[in-house]
Amino acid sequence: MIAGAGLGGLLSGAYLARAGYRVELFEPLAFVGGKFTSFDRDGFAVPTGAFHTLPGGGHGPIARACARLGVDLQLHLPRPSFVVRRGDERFVVSKNVLRPNTFWQTLPRRGRWRLGAAIGALAAGPVLPDVTFEQWLRRWDVPADTLRIAGRIIEFSIGVPLGETSVRDLGCGMWSQRWHTEGVVRGGVKSITSALADIIRAHGGHIHLRQGVRRVLVSGRSARGVVTESGQIMPADVVVLGTGLGVAADLLGNACPAALRHLLARSVPAWGASISVRSRQPLVPHAGIEVPLDSRHVSGYIQISAGAPELAPPGWHYLLAYQVLRPETFTPARVAAGVDEVRALFPSVAPDDVFHVSVFRGRWPAARLAQGIAHHGRGRCPVVCPGLDGLYLVSHDSAGDGFAAEVVASAAATMARHLGLEA
Ligand SMILES: Cc1cc2nc3c(=O)[nH]c(=O)nc-3n(C[C@H](O)[C@H](O)[C@H](O)COP(=O)(O)OP(=O)(O)OC[C@H]3O[C@@H](n4cnc5c(N)ncnc54)[C@H](O)[C@@H]3O)c2cc1C
Repeated sequence: MIAGAGLGGLLSGAYLARAGYRVELFEPLAFVGGKFTSFDRDGFAVPTGAFHTLPGGGHGPIARACARLGVDLQLHLPRPSFVVRRGDERFVVSKNVLRPNTFWQTLPRRGRWRLGAAIGALAAGPVLPDVTFEQWLRRWDVPADTLRIAGRIIEFSIGVPLGETSVRDLGCGMWSQRWHTEGVVRGGVKSITSALADIIRAHGGHIHLRQGVRRVLVSGRSARGVVTESGQIMPADVVVLGTGLGVAADLLGNACPAALRHLLARSVPAWGASISVRSRQPLVPHAGIEVPLDSRHVSGYIQISAGAPELAPPGWHYLLAYQVLRPETFTPARVAAGVDEVRALFPSVAPDDVFHVSVFRGRWPAARLAQGIAHHGRGRCPVVCPGLDGLYLVSHDSAGDGFAAEVVASAAATMARHLGLEA
């Protein structure tokens, strides 16, 4: 039994169905994909969450899962993949501190060498230190203005402020992606979740839409099945919760292990707004991610139609911008300021060309734990539920390596390995 037809539930379902399990998947919404799909708006593939990109490109956990499960993943790999913008000037983010005309040259001389030394020491060291990235950079005496720039890049890349980004997470995330960068999914992320749903059905599984799970049945120290919203009792050998920890704790009720409650109490909500912009002319002269260093609200953007033109109608370009929001300072006026800033960054954009704004906040559909915090235990929930046999937690806040949804695929692979399935 699987709760949730987001990426986590669908990947888990595909692994299980291919291994011969009879999969029954319950989803309260009318569509599959959760935050990893899109809806059509006048020919634009407007995302429910994910910006149609895979942080690990063709080498990350999602690409590896697709290869194992037989999903035909088509990627555009933008070069450059990451650019910073200062005023109207653009600089490629490069690993090579000596390469001319890169973002390294936007840093003051001292900042450049201190930052280079700090990153070099991390790459050379045998063990990743258990500190935040900010603490690490301060240890290396990186000046404040350089810290701010590093913070902007990190915040857009993994949605976590510099002061909360664990050095271990960054290192392990990069390693799990084999040091490769971003790819834009041809056909959009919906092509992945639709293919996973097809695999489940092709192997005899059922996906029940508009029907969520109300409760997980627990007997002794084992999960025994689920009760659906309509009151149907569905016994099972294996229960996978692809809902995120907050909903999982509700579904478990009194049976929720104390360790999970403890994690939930410490969870940090990740809030943000995604802003859809259309244009007749390209707004950005490349297909990669761009981080505007001077902006106050907009964290970054990507013109996804440059890598995947089919995500916009013919003759149009499609840019998605992201604004990080903080629960403590959130007001609708902040989102409006983000929209105004997008217009200021691209003066040719007419008011009605900002055609869609989604705000992710609250318990669902926002990520309940900030992406990227303590992948290795402390902040993220274990995939194999502690204290309850037969229960797996495979979602955005589960333990796993990689950035953004790559973590979900990493968690699904952990579940598959634990059950002895091919993963
Ligand atoms: C604005 C934004 C941009 C992003 N961009 C990217 C990107 O470009 N690349 C990337 O890799 N990642 C990106 N991410 C992250 C990515 O979208 C998520 O990590 C991923 O989609 C999470 O998948 P999930 O299956 O864990 O959760 P979800 O997609 O949230 O799925 C959970 C599912 O559980 C269902 N559910 C809830 N309650 C119940 C219940 N009681 N019973 C049964 N089912 C239930 C929900 O309806 C939902 O379908 C982005 C996220 C956001 C918000």
